[in-house]
Amino acid sequence: MNKEVTKQVIKTREHPVKGTWSEHPDVRVVFVMDADEHPPLHCEDSRMKYDHSKKLSGTSADIEQLYRAVPQLANLFRIKGKIGEGTFSSVYLAIAQLPGGHEEKVALKHLIPTNHPVRIAAEIQCLIIAGGQDNVMGVRYCFRKNDHVVIVMPYLENESFLDILNSLSFEEVRDYMFNLFKALKRIHYFGIVHRDVKPSNFLYNRQMKRYALVDFGLAQGTPDTKIELLKVIQSEAQQEGPESLHVQRSVFGERNFNVRSSASQGNSKLIKQPRVTDIAARKLLAKKTTSAVTNGLVKKTASSYPTNMTCDCYGKDRVCSVCLSRCQQVAQRAGTPGFRAPEVLTKFPNQTTAIDMWSAGIIFLSLLSGRYPFYKASDDLTALAQIMTIRGSRETIQAAKTFGKSILCSKNIPAQDLRMLCERLRGSKTSFDISTGDGQINLSQEPPLQAEIFNISEPALQTSKKHLQYQKPNCHERDGLVIRTSEKPADLEWDKVPDEAYDLLDKLLDLNPATRITAKDALLHPFFKNIKQ
Ligand code: ADP
Ligand code: MG
Ligand code: ZN
Repeated sequence: MNKEVTKQVIKTREHPVKGTWSEHPDVRVVFVMDADEHPPLHCEDSRMKYDHSKKLSGTSADIEQLYRAVPQLANLFRIKGKIGEGTFSSVYLAIAQLPGGHEEKVALKHLIPTNHPVRIAAEIQCLIIAGGQDNVMGVRYCFRKNDHVVIVMPYLENESFLDILNSLSFEEVRDYMFNLFKALKRIHYFGIVHRDVKPSNFLYNRQMKRYALVDFGLAQGTPDTKIELLKVIQSEAQQEGPESLHVQRSVFGERNFNVRSSASQGNSKLIKQPRVTDIAARKLLAKKTTSAVTNGLVKKTASSYPTNMTCDCYGKDRVCSVCLSRCQQVAQRAGTPGFRAPEVLTKFPNQTTAIDMWSAGIIFLSLLSGRYPFYKASDDLTALAQIMTIRGSRETIQAAKTFGKSILCSKNIPAQDLRMLCERLRGSKTSFDISTGDGQINLSQEPPLQAEIFNISEPALQTSKKHLQYQKPNCHERDGLVIRTSEKPADLEWDKVPDEAYDLLDKLLDLNPATRITAKDALLHPFFKNIKQ
């Protein structure tokens, strides 16, 4: 196989939007299979085998298309089927035919051709530099033909988080979290902020006790990142506005066709419209006003928008023109709503590796409570309100103040005791109720909670404003099905979850990113004492 590998420089378009692929000065070397020299030897053969076993379904058609788009794949791989599909890629299981008749399972990630080339190259660079060690997925090869890029990774068979959630032993949960922190420690060391930490991006093979953090498609660099291309992304995002390189994902980002109702997923024209308007308006404003760009933050002057007009979209399912014309603060905002840290939700511009630790905390919350997804929100304010129901409204407001954000909240919600919350949820067999003290209050019957966020330095009138309806913090459903996963294991471990677990959870779900526990410190937390390393 190796002799067929030729070293090339991956080419990227110089202009982020238009133009053809050309040399990009900042792009480092990756391995790319030579595109045209090797005729597809096993092509017909392998595809015939495939077609015999299955009718030509959507997946078969996709595989056909992939073979056509990147013909050199057929030399080396027999693609068996699709194992993942997201907004930005399709992932296939394939058998690599190694010299001497050996075979190996690999995952082929086919990135959609419209992905930004620097984005693609940065994803590959993260895998090459940080991957292959400490539970971070590595990369074997990359192929490119025209604008089709395929990343070849070792295949790790993995479980569906939802399927196993309620059958995991406490010891397994501890191992899971430990291994997640190991991966996060490694990428954070390289100055990579993953930005999309969630179960479907942390592969888990329960039987083999193997783990792999995947998907650097939304990664960002810290100011001192060791990943050169993340620096390029940083600077391009500052010039173009963050939306130029980032898109949001859904909580089930891997299969995601049915999303018209959700404002977070940005797939439908109906909801995309305001975003486009928003970006256009923002660019226009950036030109008109004397804006200073620092760290991706556009500071606007007070005369940015009309102050005499009032919003009339309150309580309606649309955003009025006044609200549309409001200039939004520019800050990186990507990832999956239910896993977003408060500083991401409130668009604090200086986001750090701490946002991944928050997401890890949300995973831990799911593991301890047996509920997934824990938060399912369609927009940032709803997500923030949901965080408040667990961490307290006063505490959230207080923390937001430390990074210059002011949150208005329609009522005061007390913080919950994490142990009580998790034990109640884990033990409950019926719908989601949160008790406050003696009585059980079904939150869905509560009056809606409303919140607004504005920058402390600005008058409230001139800030981005949305209105929200409270949603149940936990919806245990997928594709309209209410999911009740298998019963908890028979062992008694769950009856004596140590205080250390909840102490670590509390430190992960620290509303203030400056004091939130780091991956390095999490590994040293007493919760992990005596763990087999
Ligand atoms: P996307 O950017 O579209 O989310 P991911 O890199 O997260 O793409 O991959 C999507 C899904 O494909 C993952 O959630 C996982 O189920 C599967 N997958 C990705 N890489 C591998 C791999 N190396 N081994 C096994 N499955 C993988
Ligand atoms: Mg993913
Ligand atoms: Zn309005």
